[in-house]
Amino acid sequence: MDFSIPERLAPVLREIHDFVNEVLIAEEPELLQTGFFTAEARLGALREQVKAKGWWLPQAPRELGGMGLSVLEHGLVSEVLGRSPYGHYVFGCQAPDAGNLEILHLFGNEDQKARFLQPLSRGEIRSCFAMTEPGTAGSNPTQLACTAVKDGDDYVINGCKWFTTAADGAAFAIVMAVTTPDGPKHGRASQIIVPCDTPGFSISRNIPVMGHRGEGWASHSEIRYEDCRVPRTNLLGEEGAGFLIAQERLGPGRIHHCMRWVGICERAFDMMCQRACSRQLDGDKTLAHKQLVQAFIAESRAQINAARLMVLDAAWKIDNVGFSAARVEISLIKFFVADVMMKVVDRAIQVHGALGLTDDTVLAFYYAHERGARIYDGPDEVHKVSAARRILRSYG
Ligand SMILES: Cc1cc2nc3c(=O)[nH]c(=O)nc-3n(C[C@H](O)[C@H](O)[C@H](O)COP(=O)(O)OP(=O)(O)OC[C@H]3O[C@@H](n4cnc5c(N)ncnc54)[C@H](O)[C@@H]3O)c2cc1C
Repeated sequence: MDFSIPERLAPVLREIHDFVNEVLIAEEPELLQTGFFTAEARLGALREQVKAKGWWLPQAPRELGGMGLSVLEHGLVSEVLGRSPYGHYVFGCQAPDAGNLEILHLFGNEDQKARFLQPLSRGEIRSCFAMTEPGTAGSNPTQLACTAVKDGDDYVINGCKWFTTAADGAAFAIVMAVTTPDGPKHGRASQIIVPCDTPGFSISRNIPVMGHRGEGWASHSEIRYEDCRVPRTNLLGEEGAGFLIAQERLGPGRIHHCMRWVGICERAFDMMCQRACSRQLDGDKTLAHKQLVQAFIAESRAQINAARLMVLDAAWKIDNVGFSAARVEISLIKFFVADVMMKVVDRAIQVHGALGLTDDTVLAFYYAHERGARIYDGPDEVHKVSAARRILRSYG
Protein backbone atom coordinates (compact mmCIF):
# COMPACT_ATOMS: atom_id res chain seq x y z
CA MET A 1 0.00 0.00 0.00
CA ASP A 2 1.26 3.42 -0.94
CA PHE A 3 -0.14 6.33 1.05
CA SER A 4 2.41 8.87 -0.13
CA ILE A 5 0.86 12.05 -1.44
CA PRO A 6 0.73 11.74 -5.24
CA GLU A 7 3.16 14.08 -6.97
CA ARG A 8 0.43 15.86 -8.95
CA LEU A 9 -1.46 16.62 -5.73
CA ALA A 10 1.31 17.64 -3.32
CA PRO A 11 1.71 21.32 -4.37
CA VAL A 12 -2.05 21.80 -4.74
CA LEU A 13 -2.65 20.30 -1.31
CA ARG A 14 -0.18 22.74 0.23
CA GLU A 15 -1.90 25.69 -1.46
CA ILE A 16 -5.34 24.48 -0.34
CA HIS A 17 -3.98 24.10 3.19
CA ASP A 18 -2.78 27.73 3.15
CA PHE A 19 -6.10 28.94 1.69
CA VAL A 20 -8.07 27.15 4.44
CA ASN A 21 -5.82 28.48 7.21
CA GLU A 22 -5.30 32.01 5.97
CA VAL A 23 -8.64 32.80 4.32
CA LEU A 24 -11.39 30.47 5.55
CA ILE A 25 -10.37 30.20 9.19
CA ALA A 26 -9.76 33.94 9.35
CA GLU A 27 -13.33 34.63 8.18
CA GLU A 28 -14.88 31.79 10.17
CA PRO A 29 -16.03 33.62 13.34
CA GLU A 30 -18.12 36.07 11.32
CA LEU A 31 -19.43 33.42 8.91
CA LEU A 32 -20.53 31.17 11.78
CA GLN A 33 -22.13 33.93 13.83
CA THR A 34 -24.21 35.52 11.07
CA GLY A 35 -26.04 32.34 10.00
CA PHE A 36 -26.01 30.72 6.57
CA PHE A 37 -28.25 33.08 4.59
CA THR A 38 -26.31 36.20 5.63
CA ALA A 39 -23.00 34.41 5.03
CA GLU A 40 -24.13 33.04 1.63
CA ALA A 41 -22.96 36.01 -0.47
CA ARG A 42 -19.47 35.93 1.09
CA LEU A 43 -19.34 32.14 0.75
CA GLY A 44 -20.32 32.57 -2.92
CA ALA A 45 -17.39 34.96 -3.43
CA LEU A 46 -15.03 32.45 -1.80
CA ARG A 47 -16.40 29.76 -4.12
CA GLU A 48 -15.50 31.94 -7.10
CA GLN A 49 -11.91 32.18 -5.80
CA VAL A 50 -11.81 28.39 -5.48
CA LYS A 51 -13.15 27.93 -9.03
CA ALA A 52 -10.57 30.39 -10.39
CA LYS A 53 -7.78 28.36 -8.79
CA GLY A 54 -9.11 25.11 -10.37
CA TRP A 55 -10.04 23.52 -7.03
CA TRP A 56 -13.82 23.31 -7.54
CA LEU A 57 -15.48 19.87 -6.99
CA PRO A 58 -12.33 17.96 -5.95
CA GLN A 59 -14.40 14.75 -5.74
CA ALA A 60 -16.03 14.97 -9.18
CA PRO A 61 -14.81 13.76 -12.57
CA ARG A 62 -13.38 16.25 -15.02
CA GLU A 63 -16.38 16.03 -17.36
CA LEU A 64 -18.43 17.57 -14.55
CA GLY A 65 -15.95 20.38 -14.08
CA GLY A 66 -14.26 18.67 -11.12
CA MET A 67 -10.63 17.92 -10.27
CA GLY A 68 -10.98 14.22 -11.16
CA LEU A 69 -9.24 13.00 -8.00
CA SER A 70 -9.19 9.37 -6.85
CA VAL A 71 -10.98 8.42 -3.62
CA LEU A 72 -7.66 8.52 -1.71
CA GLU A 73 -6.64 11.86 -3.24
CA HIS A 74 -9.97 13.47 -2.44
CA GLY A 75 -9.66 12.02 1.07
CA LEU A 76 -6.45 14.00 1.52
CA VAL A 77 -8.16 17.17 0.30
CA SER A 78 -11.16 16.45 2.53
CA GLU A 79 -8.86 16.24 5.56
CA VAL A 80 -7.51 19.72 4.89
CA LEU A 81 -11.00 21.16 4.23
CA GLY A 82 -12.27 19.60 7.47
CA ARG A 83 -10.20 22.16 9.38
CA SER A 84 -12.98 24.68 8.76
CA PRO A 85 -16.77 24.10 9.08
CA TYR A 86 -17.27 25.79 5.68
CA GLY A 87 -14.31 24.10 3.93
CA HIS A 88 -16.32 21.55 2.00
CA TYR A 89 -19.09 24.00 1.13
CA VAL A 90 -16.64 26.51 -0.35
CA PHE A 91 -15.05 23.78 -2.51
CA GLY A 92 -18.42 22.35 -3.67
CA CYS A 93 -17.90 18.93 -2.08
CA GLN A 94 -20.29 19.31 0.85
CA ALA A 95 -22.86 16.75 1.93
CA PRO A 96 -25.53 16.11 0.80
CA ASP A 97 -24.83 17.69 -2.61
CA ALA A 98 -21.65 15.67 -3.21
CA GLY A 99 -23.55 12.37 -2.83
CA ASN A 100 -26.47 13.57 -4.96
CA LEU A 101 -24.09 14.75 -7.65
CA GLU A 102 -22.50 11.34 -7.71
CA ILE A 103 -25.73 9.36 -8.05
CA LEU A 104 -27.18 11.75 -10.64
CA HIS A 105 -23.98 11.31 -12.62
CA LEU A 106 -24.15 7.51 -12.33
CA PHE A 107 -27.90 6.89 -12.62
CA GLY A 108 -29.51 10.06 -14.05
CA ASN A 109 -30.89 10.13 -17.60
CA GLU A 110 -29.95 12.93 -20.01
CA ASP A 111 -32.92 15.12 -19.06
CA GLN A 112 -32.26 14.71 -15.31
CA LYS A 113 -28.61 15.54 -15.86
CA ALA A 114 -29.50 18.72 -17.78
CA ARG A 115 -32.12 19.90 -15.27
CA PHE A 116 -30.57 18.87 -11.96
CA LEU A 117 -26.97 17.66 -12.25
CA GLN A 118 -25.57 20.47 -14.39
CA PRO A 119 -26.78 23.43 -12.25
CA LEU A 120 -25.82 21.47 -9.10
CA SER A 121 -22.31 20.87 -10.38
CA ARG A 122 -21.94 24.60 -11.13
CA GLY A 123 -23.01 25.43 -7.58
CA GLU A 124 -26.04 27.39 -8.83
CA ILE A 125 -28.51 25.35 -6.80
CA ARG A 126 -28.46 23.13 -3.70
CA SER A 127 -30.14 19.79 -3.07
CA CYS A 128 -31.07 17.42 -0.26
CA PHE A 129 -31.54 13.71 0.32
CA ALA A 130 -34.67 12.50 2.13
CA MET A 131 -34.67 8.97 3.46
CA THR A 132 -35.08 9.05 7.26
CA GLU A 133 -38.57 9.25 8.77
CA PRO A 134 -39.56 10.13 12.34
CA GLY A 135 -41.94 7.16 12.50
CA THR A 136 -39.64 4.34 11.32
CA ALA A 137 -36.15 3.29 12.44
CA GLY A 138 -33.58 4.91 10.18
CA SER A 139 -31.10 2.16 11.11
CA ASN A 140 -33.27 -0.26 9.16
CA PRO A 141 -34.56 1.74 6.19
CA THR A 142 -36.16 -1.36 4.61
CA GLN A 143 -39.13 -0.45 6.86
CA LEU A 144 -39.73 2.94 5.20
CA ALA A 145 -43.37 4.05 5.23
CA CYS A 146 -43.39 6.99 2.80
CA THR A 147 -45.05 5.84 -0.45
CA ALA A 148 -44.88 6.84 -4.09
CA VAL A 149 -47.94 5.50 -5.91
CA LYS A 150 -48.21 5.49 -9.70
CA ASP A 151 -51.10 7.51 -11.07
CA GLY A 152 -51.11 7.91 -14.86
CA ASP A 153 -47.78 9.44 -15.83
CA ASP A 154 -47.04 10.56 -12.27
CA TYR A 155 -45.91 9.36 -8.89
CA VAL A 156 -47.96 10.65 -5.96
CA ILE A 157 -45.83 10.83 -2.81
CA ASN A 158 -47.24 10.75 0.72
CA GLY A 159 -45.27 10.60 3.96
CA CYS A 160 -43.12 12.48 6.43
CA LYS A 161 -39.31 12.70 6.40
CA TRP A 162 -37.03 14.31 8.89
CA PHE A 163 -33.38 15.21 9.33
CA THR A 164 -33.31 16.12 5.65
CA THR A 165 -30.08 18.09 5.78
CA ALA A 166 -29.94 21.33 3.77
CA ALA A 167 -33.58 21.17 2.56
CA ASP A 168 -34.11 24.82 3.58
CA GLY A 169 -33.51 26.69 0.31
CA ALA A 170 -32.70 23.56 -1.73
CA ALA A 171 -33.97 23.35 -5.32
CA PHE A 172 -34.73 19.64 -5.24
CA ALA A 173 -34.83 16.60 -2.98
CA ILE A 174 -33.96 13.03 -3.87
CA VAL A 175 -36.67 11.17 -1.99
CA MET A 176 -36.50 7.52 -1.04
CA ALA A 177 -40.10 6.20 -1.15
CA VAL A 178 -41.81 2.83 -1.27
CA THR A 179 -42.95 2.02 -4.81
CA THR A 180 -43.49 -1.77 -4.42
CA PRO A 181 -44.86 -2.37 -0.90
CA ASP A 182 -44.97 -6.17 -1.37
CA GLY A 183 -41.62 -6.37 -3.14
CA PRO A 184 -38.48 -7.99 -1.73
CA LYS A 185 -37.02 -6.23 1.33
CA HIS A 186 -34.33 -4.41 -0.62
CA GLY A 187 -36.46 -3.84 -3.71
CA ARG A 188 -39.44 -1.99 -2.19
CA ALA A 189 -38.09 1.53 -2.45
CA SER A 190 -37.05 3.86 -5.25
CA GLN A 191 -35.30 7.22 -5.44
CA ILE A 192 -37.37 9.98 -6.99
CA ILE A 193 -36.34 13.56 -7.76
CA VAL A 194 -38.79 16.05 -6.25
CA PRO A 195 -38.36 19.77 -7.01
CA CYS A 196 -38.90 21.61 -3.71
CA ASP A 197 -41.51 23.94 -5.24
CA THR A 198 -43.79 20.99 -6.10
CA PRO A 199 -47.26 21.46 -4.52
CA GLY A 200 -47.58 19.07 -1.55
CA PHE A 201 -43.90 19.47 -0.55
CA SER A 202 -43.73 21.49 2.65
CA ILE A 203 -41.06 22.06 5.28
CA SER A 204 -42.78 21.85 8.69
CA ARG A 205 -39.73 23.10 10.59
CA ASN A 206 -35.98 23.22 10.82
CA ILE A 207 -35.33 20.83 13.70
CA PRO A 208 -33.43 22.38 16.62
CA VAL A 209 -30.25 20.34 17.18
CA MET A 210 -28.43 20.91 20.49
CA GLY A 211 -30.08 24.31 20.75
CA HIS A 212 -29.39 25.39 17.14
CA ARG A 213 -32.20 25.52 14.57
CA GLY A 214 -29.80 26.45 11.79
CA GLU A 215 -30.82 27.68 8.36
CA GLY A 216 -30.12 27.03 4.71
CA TRP A 217 -27.40 24.49 4.01
CA ALA A 218 -26.62 24.32 7.75
CA SER A 219 -29.96 22.89 8.89
CA HIS A 220 -31.98 19.69 9.11
CA SER A 221 -35.67 19.82 8.16
CA GLU A 222 -38.83 17.91 8.81
CA ILE A 223 -40.80 17.70 5.57
CA ARG A 224 -44.37 16.65 4.76
CA TYR A 225 -45.21 15.12 1.40
CA GLU A 226 -48.96 15.41 0.88
CA ASP A 227 -50.22 14.18 -2.49
CA CYS A 228 -46.96 15.48 -3.86
CA ARG A 229 -47.15 14.72 -7.59
CA VAL A 230 -44.10 14.43 -9.83
CA PRO A 231 -43.76 12.92 -13.32
CA ARG A 232 -42.64 9.28 -13.47
CA THR A 233 -39.70 10.46 -15.54
CA ASN A 234 -38.28 11.84 -12.25
CA LEU A 235 -37.47 8.28 -11.14
CA LEU A 236 -33.71 7.89 -10.66
CA GLY A 237 -32.44 4.63 -12.15
CA GLU A 238 -34.73 1.61 -12.06
CA GLU A 239 -37.87 1.29 -9.98
CA GLY A 240 -36.99 -0.66 -6.80
CA ALA A 241 -33.30 0.26 -7.05
CA GLY A 242 -33.44 2.74 -4.15
CA PHE A 243 -31.21 0.73 -1.81
CA LEU A 244 -28.74 -0.18 -4.49
CA ILE A 245 -28.31 3.49 -5.39
CA ALA A 246 -28.10 4.45 -1.69
CA GLN A 247 -25.20 2.01 -1.24
CA GLU A 248 -23.41 3.56 -4.20
CA ARG A 249 -23.86 6.97 -2.57
CA LEU A 250 -22.43 5.95 0.78
CA GLY A 251 -19.15 4.17 -0.12
CA PRO A 252 -16.80 6.99 -1.16
CA GLY A 253 -18.92 9.37 0.95
CA ARG A 254 -17.80 7.64 4.13
CA ILE A 255 -14.13 8.13 3.21
CA HIS A 256 -14.74 11.83 2.67
CA HIS A 257 -16.67 12.18 5.95
CA CYS A 258 -13.99 10.29 7.89
CA MET A 259 -11.16 12.36 6.43
CA ARG A 260 -13.17 15.51 7.20
CA TRP A 261 -13.37 14.26 10.80
CA VAL A 262 -9.59 13.68 10.82
CA GLY A 263 -9.25 17.32 9.72
CA ILE A 264 -11.48 18.37 12.63
CA CYS A 265 -9.27 16.31 14.95
CA GLU A 266 -6.13 18.04 13.65
CA ARG A 267 -7.66 21.49 14.16
CA ALA A 268 -8.84 20.63 17.70
CA PHE A 269 -5.44 19.04 18.44
CA ASP A 270 -3.57 22.18 17.31
CA MET A 271 -5.85 24.33 19.45
CA MET A 272 -5.38 22.04 22.47
CA CYS A 273 -1.57 22.15 22.19
CA GLN A 274 -1.50 25.92 21.61
CA ARG A 275 -3.72 26.50 24.65
CA ALA A 276 -1.69 24.08 26.79
CA CYS A 277 1.50 25.96 25.93
CA SER A 278 0.07 29.44 26.49
CA ARG A 279 -2.20 29.09 29.54
CA GLN A 280 -0.17 29.91 32.62
CA LEU A 281 -1.10 28.17 35.84
CA ASP A 282 1.49 29.56 38.22
CA GLY A 283 4.73 31.39 37.61
CA ASP A 284 6.18 30.26 34.30
CA LYS A 285 4.37 26.90 34.49
CA THR A 286 1.71 26.37 31.84
CA LEU A 287 -0.89 23.64 31.36
CA ALA A 288 1.64 21.92 29.10
CA HIS A 289 3.75 21.15 32.20
CA LYS A 290 0.98 19.01 33.69
CA GLN A 291 1.28 15.30 33.06
CA LEU A 292 -2.47 14.75 32.84
CA VAL A 293 -2.61 17.29 29.99
CA GLN A 294 0.43 15.63 28.39
CA ALA A 295 -1.52 12.37 28.49
CA PHE A 296 -4.41 14.08 26.62
CA ILE A 297 -1.93 15.15 23.98
CA ALA A 298 -0.16 11.81 23.58
CA GLU A 299 -3.41 9.82 23.53
CA SER A 300 -4.97 12.20 21.01
CA ARG A 301 -1.93 12.10 18.72
CA ALA A 302 -1.86 8.28 18.78
CA GLN A 303 -5.58 8.02 18.09
CA ILE A 304 -5.57 10.58 15.26
CA ASN A 305 -2.60 8.85 13.60
CA ALA A 306 -4.35 5.47 13.86
CA ALA A 307 -7.63 6.88 12.55
CA ARG A 308 -5.94 8.58 9.62
CA LEU A 309 -4.05 5.48 8.54
CA MET A 310 -7.21 3.38 8.79
CA VAL A 311 -9.10 5.75 6.50
CA LEU A 312 -6.26 5.93 3.98
CA ASP A 313 -6.10 2.14 4.02
CA ALA A 314 -9.85 1.91 3.25
CA ALA A 315 -9.54 4.56 0.51
CA TRP A 316 -6.58 2.74 -1.04
CA LYS A 317 -8.60 -0.50 -1.08
CA ILE A 318 -11.58 1.19 -2.79
CA ASP A 319 -9.27 2.69 -5.44
CA ASN A 320 -7.28 -0.51 -6.04
CA VAL A 321 -9.51 -3.48 -5.22
CA GLY A 322 -13.00 -1.99 -5.40
CA PHE A 323 -15.75 -0.94 -3.02
CA SER A 324 -17.03 -4.46 -2.24
CA ALA A 325 -13.64 -5.66 -1.06
CA ALA A 326 -13.40 -2.71 1.34
CA ARG A 327 -16.74 -3.14 3.15
CA VAL A 328 -15.22 -4.21 6.47
CA GLU A 329 -12.72 -1.34 6.44
CA ILE A 330 -15.47 1.17 5.59
CA SER A 331 -17.57 0.02 8.57
CA LEU A 332 -14.54 0.06 10.88
CA ILE A 333 -13.55 3.63 10.04
CA LYS A 334 -17.13 4.90 10.32
CA PHE A 335 -17.39 4.16 14.04
CA PHE A 336 -13.69 4.35 14.96
CA VAL A 337 -12.97 7.80 13.52
CA ALA A 338 -16.25 9.29 14.81
CA ASP A 339 -15.29 8.14 18.31
CA VAL A 340 -11.74 9.51 18.04
CA MET A 341 -13.13 12.85 16.85
CA MET A 342 -15.51 13.14 19.81
CA LYS A 343 -12.70 12.26 22.25
CA VAL A 344 -10.23 14.74 20.77
CA VAL A 345 -12.75 17.60 20.59
CA ASP A 346 -13.83 16.86 24.17
CA ARG A 347 -10.22 16.93 25.43
CA ALA A 348 -9.56 20.18 23.56
CA ILE A 349 -12.62 21.71 25.24
CA GLN A 350 -11.43 20.47 28.63
CA VAL A 351 -8.01 22.06 28.17
CA HIS A 352 -9.67 25.38 27.23
CA GLY A 353 -11.74 25.34 30.43
CA ALA A 354 -14.84 27.56 30.35
CA LEU A 355 -13.61 29.17 27.12
CA GLY A 356 -14.05 25.80 25.41
CA LEU A 357 -17.80 25.92 26.02
CA THR A 358 -18.27 29.36 24.50
CA ASP A 359 -18.78 30.29 20.87
CA ASP A 360 -15.52 32.28 21.03
CA THR A 361 -13.69 29.24 19.62
CA VAL A 362 -14.90 26.71 17.05
CA LEU A 363 -14.71 23.83 19.55
CA ALA A 364 -18.27 24.14 20.90
CA PHE A 365 -19.57 24.24 17.31
CA TYR A 366 -17.80 20.96 16.55
CA TYR A 367 -18.97 19.41 19.82
CA ALA A 368 -22.63 20.18 19.07
CA HIS A 369 -22.72 19.64 15.32
CA GLU A 370 -20.44 16.64 14.94
CA ARG A 371 -22.03 14.45 17.64
CA GLY A 372 -24.33 13.24 14.88
CA ALA A 373 -21.34 11.52 13.26
CA ARG A 374 -21.95 8.50 15.48
CA ILE A 375 -25.56 8.31 14.23
CA TYR A 376 -25.88 9.35 10.56
CA ASP A 377 -24.80 7.11 7.64
CA GLY A 378 -25.38 4.17 9.98
CA PRO A 379 -25.07 4.35 13.78
CA ASP A 380 -21.92 2.92 15.41
CA GLU A 381 -23.69 -0.24 16.52
CA VAL A 382 -24.89 -1.11 13.01
CA HIS A 383 -21.37 -0.78 11.60
CA LYS A 384 -19.86 -2.83 14.42
CA VAL A 385 -22.35 -5.64 13.86
CA SER A 386 -21.89 -5.51 10.10
CA ALA A 387 -18.06 -5.57 10.29
CA ALA A 388 -18.05 -8.38 12.89
CA ARG A 389 -20.43 -10.53 10.82
CA ARG A 390 -18.30 -10.18 7.71
CA ILE A 391 -15.12 -10.95 9.66
CA LEU A 392 -16.70 -13.97 11.34
CA ARG A 393 -17.85 -15.39 7.99
CA SER A 394 -14.24 -16.15 7.12
CA TYR A 395 -14.03 -18.26 10.32
CA GLY A 396 -17.08 -20.29 9.26
C1 LIG B 1 -26.71 15.45 11.77
C2 LIG B 1 -27.58 14.46 11.05
C3 LIG B 1 -27.82 14.63 9.69
C4 LIG B 1 -28.65 13.74 9.00
N1 LIG B 1 -28.92 13.95 7.67
C5 LIG B 1 -29.79 13.14 7.02
C6 LIG B 1 -30.16 13.40 5.66
O1 LIG B 1 -29.70 14.37 5.03
N2 LIG B 1 -31.08 12.58 5.07
C7 LIG B 1 -31.63 11.52 5.73
O2 LIG B 1 -32.44 10.81 5.14
N3 LIG B 1 -31.29 11.25 7.02
C8 LIG B 1 -30.40 12.03 7.69
N4 LIG B 1 -30.08 11.80 9.00
C9 LIG B 1 -30.74 10.70 9.71
C10 LIG B 1 -29.83 9.50 9.98
O3 LIG B 1 -29.53 8.84 8.79
C11 LIG B 1 -30.55 8.60 11.00
O4 LIG B 1 -30.66 9.33 12.21
C12 LIG B 1 -29.83 7.28 11.22
O5 LIG B 1 -29.97 6.44 10.10
C13 LIG B 1 -30.40 6.53 12.46
O6 LIG B 1 -31.78 6.39 12.37
P1 LIG B 1 -32.71 6.84 13.60
O7 LIG B 1 -32.35 8.23 14.00
O8 LIG B 1 -34.12 6.59 13.19
O9 LIG B 1 -32.30 5.91 14.81
P2 LIG B 1 -32.89 4.46 15.15
O10 LIG B 1 -32.91 3.62 13.94
O11 LIG B 1 -34.15 4.64 15.89
O12 LIG B 1 -31.75 3.90 16.12
C14 LIG B 1 -31.56 4.47 17.42
C15 LIG B 1 -30.31 3.89 18.03
O13 LIG B 1 -30.47 2.50 18.18
C16 LIG B 1 -29.22 1.85 18.14
N5 LIG B 1 -29.26 0.77 17.15
C17 LIG B 1 -29.80 0.82 15.91
N6 LIG B 1 -29.63 -0.35 15.27
C18 LIG B 1 -28.98 -1.17 16.13
C19 LIG B 1 -28.50 -2.50 16.06
N7 LIG B 1 -28.63 -3.25 14.95
N8 LIG B 1 -27.86 -3.02 17.15
C20 LIG B 1 -27.70 -2.28 18.27
N9 LIG B 1 -28.11 -1.00 18.38
C21 LIG B 1 -28.75 -0.46 17.33
C22 LIG B 1 -28.19 2.91 17.75
O14 LIG B 1 -27.51 3.34 18.92
C23 LIG B 1 -29.03 4.04 17.21
O15 LIG B 1 -28.42 5.31 17.38
C24 LIG B 1 -29.23 12.66 9.70
C25 LIG B 1 -28.98 12.48 11.06
C26 LIG B 1 -28.16 13.35 11.74
C27 LIG B 1 -27.91 13.15 13.20
